[in-house]
Amino acid sequence: MSENKLSRREFVGKTVAAGMASALMTKSAFAKENKMNKKVLFVWGGWKGHQPGECRDLYVPWLKQQGCDVTVSNTLDSYTDQDLMNSMDLIVQVWTMGKITGEQSKGLVAAVKNGAGLAGWHGGLCDSFRENTEYQFMTGGQWVAHPGGIVDYEVHIVDHKDPVTAGIKNFQLRSEQYYMHVDPANKVLATSIFNGEHDFWIKGTIMPVVWKKVFGKGRVFYASFGHHASDFDVPEALEIVHRGMRWASESKYEKAENLISPVYPRS
Ligand SMILES: [Zn+2]
Repeated sequence: MSENKLSRREFVGKTVAAGMASALMTKSAFAKENKMNKKVLFVWGGWKGHQPGECRDLYVPWLKQQGCDVTVSNTLDSYTDQDLMNSMDLIVQVWTMGKITGEQSKGLVAAVKNGAGLAGWHGGLCDSFRENTEYQFMTGGQWVAHPGGIVDYEVHIVDHKDPVTAGIKNFQLRSEQYYMHVDPANKVLATSIFNGEHDFWIKGTIMPVVWKKVFGKGRVFYASFGHHASDFDVPEALEIVHRGMRWASESKYEKAENLISPVYPRS
């Protein structure tokens, strides 16, 4: 993507998002809040097909506008820096596939357990480090398929009270519709339905698209859209990630929430 194109997209995205945000804020629990003003570690890298650099250029300036002190890193070794990790309120990771060492993984998991928030989307958070089950235990889901590749689908907001999705209407995406193995402890905020066009046996499956959860003392936010950075040209998609980051960044300052809501019969 050329610089011109990127800046035009960013400009349009920001303009639309600003209007959208002000229209939505009356219904949002964040209405009274000011800037985030948090310490954020933004780690980007991994498979280039998910445009980690473009996503960095989209979200880091926004985090800075939010008054955040942002450390941008293109190495997973940042997770081994204990002082750095202890100082963070929020870790945003855009790192599809790849491998994480035991020491790197230990540093990240410990930071979240101790109260750092974790936020991400698509493969950058939930198709990373496929061999690391403790990492998957933390994120709440693992990508396994995207039937049909790039398809048209609708994101259904299912929680209209949660501050991350309050006031946001259902919206359409043309992108990968992620089929995921998910943690039943997640609090699901938005879903999509598989129409069975590409894999007939999953027709009617309702799949979590946006969720929040806790891992130890840390808050974890995830959205499964975002195959390309242009997914966030859709104002609802961008707004949800902004709010998710904000929510996750509050782990060290807000009371712990019980997000568990059993989806299967107890007996
Ligand atoms: Zn993808």
